[in-house]
Amino acid sequence: MSELNPCMTCGACCAYFRVSFYWAEADDAGGCVPASQTEPLTPFLRCMRGTNNRQSRCTALVGDIGDGVSCSIYENRPSPCREFAMSGENGVENDACNRARAHYGLPPLYKDMPFHTGLDAATLASSELQSPPN
Ligand code: SF4
Ligand code: SF4
Repeated sequence: MSELNPCMTCGACCAYFRVSFYWAEADDAGGCVPASQTEPLTPFLRCMRGTNNRQSRCTALVGDIGDGVSCSIYENRPSPCREFAMSGENGVENDACNRARAHYGLPPLYKDMPFHTGLDAATLASSELQSPPN
């Protein structure tokens, strides 16, 4: 991963969306996501602990949002996190990424920004990322 990867100084999506996924992704059901970092959502879904709160923040997120962050279970993170694309990655802008960033006062990322030319396969994002309950 490039040292210039903006995700490393962001983390907004890990503290903005509800991160839900099929329950069997957890390691007590044959998957890899540490079950202790999850909580039940429905009979078929779990979410990352902390992301179903009004003030969402995944308990696996380490560091300060907008400064320096990392995922403590990066190798075992659930599918929504693997699929979520940083805005601008591979020439595709992601409104969800920029919405989360805006929530924390961070500027949007566009596809023509210079750091995107130095990125390998990126980091976090989305099919099952949802806004937490109000
Ligand atoms: S994917 Fe977007 S919101 Fe998530 S950490 Fe990276 S830059 Fe921030
Ligand atoms: S990437 Fe890691 S810290 Fe971020 S939401 Fe997913 S599991 Fe949590």
